[in-house]
Amino acid sequence: MKTIGYAAYSPDSPLAPLTFERRALRPDDVAMEILYCGVCHSDLHTAHNDWGWSYYPIVPGHEIVGRVTATGSQVTRYQVGDHVAVGCMVDSCQECDQCHNGEEQLCREGHTGTYCGHDRHTGEPTQGGYAKHLVVREAFCLRVPDGLDLARTAPLLCAGITTYSPLRTWNVGPGSRVGVIGLGGLGHMAVKLAVGLGADVTVLSRSNGKEADALALGADRLLVSTDAGAMNKAANGFDLIIDTVPVKHSLDPYLPLLDVDGTLVIVGQVGPMAETNTVPLLLGRRRVAGSPIGGIRETQELLDFCAKKNILPDCEMIRMDQINDAFERMEKADVRYRFVIDMATLSDGQA
Ligand code: NAP
Ligand code: ZN
Repeated sequence: MKTIGYAAYSPDSPLAPLTFERRALRPDDVAMEILYCGVCHSDLHTAHNDWGWSYYPIVPGHEIVGRVTATGSQVTRYQVGDHVAVGCMVDSCQECDQCHNGEEQLCREGHTGTYCGHDRHTGEPTQGGYAKHLVVREAFCLRVPDGLDLARTAPLLCAGITTYSPLRTWNVGPGSRVGVIGLGGLGHMAVKLAVGLGADVTVLSRSNGKEADALALGADRLLVSTDAGAMNKAANGFDLIIDTVPVKHSLDPYLPLLDVDGTLVIVGQVGPMAETNTVPLLLGRRRVAGSPIGGIRETQELLDFCAKKNILPDCEMIRMDQINDAFERMEKADVRYRFVIDMATLSDGQA
């Protein structure tokens, strides 16, 4: 099936239209028309080849909401017309202990990325959701609960699950003291979800410019991470800190904030970090961890949780041809708090 999308053609060229093929339906495949796609900072990292594993052309996008247009002969859970969603993975081995546990993101053979991956049957490079159509294995399709706003559901598929998963792994609930470093796409979802789980939530931002927003999102306070005096006063006050900063940075200002046995989970920077002083780690029995997205079962749990609690991201809708401006604004942390592309604005005439 021919489709159109927007692709990066090299690390330093703007995204531009691309016509490409989606595979013919396999028996366990679902085909969908993409309605909305969120814009994740990972899309920008990938377009620029910041992690060194991009290929070109590459169509980014892994916060996908669509409508089913066809199903393979063995598909049982979805029908034409259903509203479905796809996140950062489109396949895994389905046989290892992690896949059997519903933790496909940790597949022993490596999961297949929605983009920046290779099809497990043909080896072809995968292409993401900045496009009109997608074909995906049924097991990697999520159901959008009735009543959820479709456009605002899209960012739950990456920003949502990437922050929900550590909140669940570290058993956040009433009484938990949670810090969120960086108030962007992931950060603002971390705030809403932690508040939804009953935690006391502090935003750690580089200035107080987002203070009113942080409070409006439900946070209890904003702590300016560059204010050494305020940071000193907050020492030992957190059980869990979720670090969403998208670049190399120092953990030294943040580690003393953790209480004994507290954990700082890195979900932002993928790659080297600045040198870390281990004194606060050792003396405070503190921990540093990492966490990648979340499994399919947990992602469905998240969608159902958000529907029940009416938790949705704050979104700015854009046209497909505004993506390069959106990337520029994302680089300046000028997003309040997730761009979502309305795929109806991508017409065949653009390719
Ligand atoms: P985003 O919307 O751009 O938000 C990042 C936030 O970090 C900014 O709003 C800003 O908050 C802060 N920040 C930005 N530049 C900074 C700098 N130089 N120093 C310190 N803080 C800075 O990005 P996002 O979409 O949330 O993604 C964040 C990161 O998570 C990206 O690196 C992305 O690749 C990664 N990611 C990882 C996973 C995973 O599976 N672990 C999944 C999705 C995304 P303030 O203005 O409040 O300081
Ligand atoms: Zn993402």
